[in-house]
Amino acid sequence: MKLVFPATPVPHGVTQADWLNWTWQLRHSLRTREDFAKVLDLTADEEEGFHGGGELFQIRSTPYYAALAGGPHDPIRKILMPSARELFTGAQQMLDPLGEKKNNPAPRIIHRYPDRLLFLVTDTCSVYCRYCTRKHFTGGDQAFVRSSEYDQALSYIKSRQGLREVILSGGDPLTLSDSILERVLSDLRSIDHVEIIRIGTRMPVVCPMRVTDQLVQMIRRYHPVYLMTHFNHPRELTGEAADAVTRLVDHGIPVFNQLVLLNGVNNHPAVIQALSRRLLYLRAKPYYMFQCDPSEGTDHLRTSIDDSIEIQRELWGRLSGLAMPNLSVDIPDGGGKAGLVPDFLVSHEGRRRVFEGWDGVRAEYIDPAPETIVKPIDAELYLAEWDALKGARSR
Ligand code: SF4
Repeated sequence: MKLVFPATPVPHGVTQADWLNWTWQLRHSLRTREDFAKVLDLTADEEEGFHGGGELFQIRSTPYYAALAGGPHDPIRKILMPSARELFTGAQQMLDPLGEKKNNPAPRIIHRYPDRLLFLVTDTCSVYCRYCTRKHFTGGDQAFVRSSEYDQALSYIKSRQGLREVILSGGDPLTLSDSILERVLSDLRSIDHVEIIRIGTRMPVVCPMRVTDQLVQMIRRYHPVYLMTHFNHPRELTGEAADAVTRLVDHGIPVFNQLVLLNGVNNHPAVIQALSRRLLYLRAKPYYMFQCDPSEGTDHLRTSIDDSIEIQRELWGRLSGLAMPNLSVDIPDGGGKAGLVPDFLVSHEGRRRVFEGWDGVRAEYIDPAPETIVKPIDAELYLAEWDALKGARSR
């Protein structure tokens, strides 16, 4: 069946040319209670959130994204609007849940894995998601990293020979102008050992008009570049967002989606199925489905790991492997990702295992005799590459 992605109606009093211009969207960002009250009937909880939550973490939205929000319990509204509940002390509250400050060997660099690192090129986003895991950094309004810090970050990347991937993050790198972004891409491409560049961005979701022809033409000059985006709900896949994703993949920029499971937003298998199916149709790969990190002020948005595994189990037989995101939790304090998979194993004895599949089929899998197992004869050809990664990490 052909899937349809409806365009967002242009509000009264705004020209279509302005609405579809990303700089107009950023210039007309909603930031204050008064700005939001012009487009939404604020609830008492949100009113309170503007005072308390706003102090904890900035509030901002593009007019486009705010136009996707519905009534008080609407999923997109929960992502966008501050709540009095941000001030409650939750079961676990961490300013830096991923332990990034411990893995920060140079300004704006988070280096946790041997072969890749994050380069936080800006701390600005066009929408401040209430569940953001990087509240300790995001929202300071430093549009681009200071030049001395930029030079130090670049020197660090140059000095780590084992690095293969650099992930541009922030903040949102696509809030930067094409020319600044091109400078970063060009500097990274001039480093021999950087093979892959990734851009982590929520702009295709919250300001899809940012993905212009000029932008994709520029990015493709620095291939291989991957774009990691962050759709959480099928209603975020509007006509404008679908055009943005299509423009990226048409220019050879693979698009991967990372979603966060959020309470009352998308924690239902039917919602994730609809989102994944639409993404795949647009040639964007559903990649990760993350447990929400215990960032400050997010307890009301978090779900339980049991709930998430149950969603994954329900999806197992209903989504193809191509459409299935990997469920994962970031181990607090910098422990890295831990994959979460429903347990299909019923029993295990010696070489025999009994499994029960998603629809109740039960069967036995028997390992071959251990003495028949050999390692590939040419594995040693790849050992130098393997060993090179060992020394890549900063500590
Ligand atoms: S776009 Fe990303 S970095 Fe920015 S507020 Fe949302 S989750 Fe945080």
